[in-house]
This record gives sequence, C-alpha cells and structure tokens, in this order.
Amino acid sequence: MAESARVTVGGVEVSVDHLIGGERVASERTFECRSPLDWDHTLADVARGDASVAQRAVAAAVQGFHEWSGLPVGERASALRRLADLIEARNDDIALVETLDMGFLHRSMRERLVARGAVNFRFYADMAEAHAEPRWPARGTTHTVQRMPAGPAVVITPWNAPFMLATWKVAPALAAGNSVVLKPAEWSPLSASLLADLTVEAGLPPGAFNLVQGIGAEVGAALTADPRVRRISFTGSPETARHIGAAAAANIVPFTAELGGKGPLIVFADCDLEAAADQAAAQYEDSGQVCLAGTRLLVDAWVHDDFVEALRARTEAHVLGDSRDDATTIAPIVHPDHLARVEGFVERARSAGDTIVWGGRRRSGSLHYEPTLVQPASNDSEIVQREVFGPVLTIQSFSTEAEAVELANSTRYGLSAIVYTNSAERAERMGAAVRAGIVWTNTFLVRDLAAPFGGCGLSGIGREGGNHALDFHSDLKTLIHANNTAA
Ligand code: NAD
Repeated sequence: MAESARVTVGGVEVSVDHLIGGERVASERTFECRSPLDWDHTLADVARGDASVAQRAVAAAVQGFHEWSGLPVGERASALRRLADLIEARNDDIALVETLDMGFLHRSMRERLVARGAVNFRFYADMAEAHAEPRWPARGTTHTVQRMPAGPAVVITPWNAPFMLATWKVAPALAAGNSVVLKPAEWSPLSASLLADLTVEAGLPPGAFNLVQGIGAEVGAALTADPRVRRISFTGSPETARHIGAAAAANIVPFTAELGGKGPLIVFADCDLEAAADQAAAQYEDSGQVCLAGTRLLVDAWVHDDFVEALRARTEAHVLGDSRDDATTIAPIVHPDHLARVEGFVERARSAGDTIVWGGRRRSGSLHYEPTLVQPASNDSEIVQREVFGPVLTIQSFSTEAEAVELANSTRYGLSAIVYTNSAERAERMGAAVRAGIVWTNTFLVRDLAAPFGGCGLSGIGREGGNHALDFHSDLKTLIHANNTAA
C-alpha cells in the first residue's frame, strides 16, 4: 500500500492522493505533473486511479449521497457557504498552485478566476435554499413539483481554468443534494486537490465529495461506465464527449457536455473600433486556451484595414513571459503536446495557402506561441472550421450584415459570439440571427450565473447555470393531491 503524500508547490502543500469517503487514498501508480512555466522540473507525481479506484469512489459517493441528500437544504447550503469562505481565505494559495500547474496568468487567477469558485458555491447555496416548489390547482386537485436529488454525480473537467470550471459544476450538484466524484484533467490536477481539502474542512459528510485523479481513458472511462452513477457533467472536447455520451447511453444516465468553441468576433463599421480592437487583442491572453474566445474575427470591409492596424499595435504591445509576473499578458501553452498541436494547425494553414499575417512561430526557451493572425484562403480552411485552442485568430471581411451572419453561423460549433456595433437595432437582429449559446454585444465574459450556459452543435448538449443546473441534477416529481385530501 502506497503512503499518503503531500508535496509543496510554490510553498503551498498539496496532497497528490485521491479523496474517497473523506479519506486520502494513496496510489502505487502515479503520473507526472509538470509546470508550463518550467517544463524541466516535475511539480508532483500524482495518484493514477484505475477501475478499482473508480468503483471505490462511486461506492463512497453512494454512501455519501444518503447522508448528504437527507440533510435539510438549509444545512447543505450552510456547508457550501463555509466552503466558499474557505476558498476565499485560501485564494492566493489556490491561484498560485493553479498558475504553476497550468500556466494561466497569475493576475487573472488571483483577481478573478479563483474568486469565482467561491461565488459559484455561494450562488448555488442561495439558489437551492430560495427554491419554491411550483404548485397550482387543476381539475379538483393541487399539483406540486418537487426536485429529488438524483444520486451520485460524476464531474469531469478539462485542463483550462480547472478550479473555476470544477466549482462551476460541483456546486450545483452538491446544492441539489447529489454526492460528487470529481475527476480533473491530468494536465492540471492540483487545484482540485486543494478543493478536496476544503470540502473536508467545511464539514461535508464523508463521501459527499470525492476526488479521483488519473488519466481520462482509464479512470474517467471507469467512472462514467459505473451504473450507480446517476448524472454525468462533463466539460472538455467533442471527441471525449462521444465516449462519455456512449457510456451515459448504456446506463440511461442524463449527461451535459460543455464543449469547444469557434466563436466569431463580429466588428461592424458603426462600432467603437478601438474598443473592438482591444477586445480582439484580449483574445490572445491565456494563449487563447479559452472555450468562449472569439477566435474568428469577422470585420466589415469598410473598416478592415484600420481594424487590422489597431489590432497589430495592440498585439505588438503584448508581453509573452512568466505568468507569475503581472507585466506578462500572454501565458505559455499548457503542455508541449498542445503547443505542437497549435503549431500543426498553423503549419497546415500555411501549406494550404492561408496567409499568416503575423506570428506563426513558437518562442524558443519557453512554451509560448506567438500571437498569430491568419487570413484564410477560404471559409472552408481548417483553421476557420476547427478549434485551435491557442493564440491564433483568423480574420475575414464581410460587406453586408447578412454575410456576417452567414459567416458567423458557418462552423459546426455554437458556443459563443461577440458583436461590436453601436446600433441597438443591429444588436437585436444579430442576437436573434447568430446560432450560439451566448451572444455578447460590446462586452465579453460578463454573465450572471442565473443565465443558462452551454452550446449548440459541436459545442455541447444541455445547459448548466442557474436553475438549469439544479434541474439537471434532480429528478423532477409531480405530486397530485385531490383537493378533498385531509390536511
Ligand atoms: P478532453 O476532452 O481531452 O479532456 C477533458 C476531461 O475528460 C479530462 O479530465 C480527461 O481526463 C477526461 N477524459 C478523457 N478521455 C475520457 C474518457 N474516455 N472517459 C472519461 N473521461 C475522459 O479536453 P481537454 O483537452 O482537457 O480540454 C479542452 C477542451 O475543453 C476544449 O475543446 C475546450 O474548448 C473545452 N472546454 C469547454 C468549455 C465550455 O464550457 N464549453 C470550457 C473549458 C474547456
């Protein structure tokens, strides 16, 4: 039996083990976790779960479900608020571990993304507690709709912004009364382990929250195939979603899939061009490893050249550097394999006759890829049609609003879109015409958590956010009482 282990990452102690039934569980088998900030050194050897660990974690979640779902909603909400307080108290530690683990800018981790984790728990604690069961009279009866906690939920998350994304999915599952087994991505497993510690400190009953570390095709597949699991909430790539969907279908289990994007950023001639160029340049931050990013720039032909020059100046002002340094504006890419993937997209674009307007090279001595702009030879170019998930934007021009809509809707994805226009009428028309789960006008990333979140087409199945996530994690039951039923 391997010994339970903690390592120090940036001065912060992190367990490398699973958390099952409230106990740390060590593993003989491990996988190596390295930092994109310093690839030559191993950050941690992390527990590598297998099918037996998955079974053990689901068994613990079945046990944990009985106690957690049986608590009054107010008690569950209090525990989640304690968890939110603990996240806030450890904000800087979590932010540093996250930056070292997967490379995102420390500034945005510290000031935005980790804090969102606490907000996620508080928001769902409030929402679950405030829920009023719908009730109405009909044909001599009273109908009431109740939410029943569904059972153990498996949550599987990707490597980008892992803490924020894990909390976004774990919070509604727990708030709905489900127990959780979280499987974070193998390229960024560490912040989930800090979350696991905090669930224990917050007093969640054993088994209400479980953490399993490991490789997706091994332990992730075993978790999603387990028939005791009653919900699967997944964020990641369409390729993995197909496997998870097949496992969910085999057990008739509802699943949500928040997948990739290829969002358009549409710039009309009537907009504040400087603001639009600021927004386009900001899409390079975190090296474009953001599902919601507006990576296809669609620009009104009237202002195309002015826009390109405004964007060029802003791109040149970007600083590629160490993500811990607040002067850095472009983070390294998470992993050498992903850097090679990004590079492959640009090289194939070059060979296919697309024009590399700027960038198109990796930096020597780090995992940075230069912010890149590609003018495709055709809308069918691979670089337009497939998600790169790197600091690579494409630019195309349009002459009419109808053409902008046609280009915007021309990929198989439909996660997000950004529109820049100063016309309220145009904003309304574009909002109606663009096929995406979310359309921002003259802004980006601002979103109230009550709003539905998810994508169309290859960008996903189902909606999370607000009551959508609480409904997903519940089995709805209709109670019908004859009105003469004794009180
Ligand atoms: P991925 O699909 O490779 O992996 C995601 C998770 O699935 C990981 O934890 C992985 O271990 C696990 N996994 C892999 N194979 C599995 C299997 N057979 N069974 C069960 N689990 C398995 O995705 P990634 O490369 O980590 O993440 C990047 C992708 O995520 C991009 O496409 C990005 O757009 C998308 N993403 C979407 C959103 C959103 O909200 N829509 C948010 C962030 C990222």
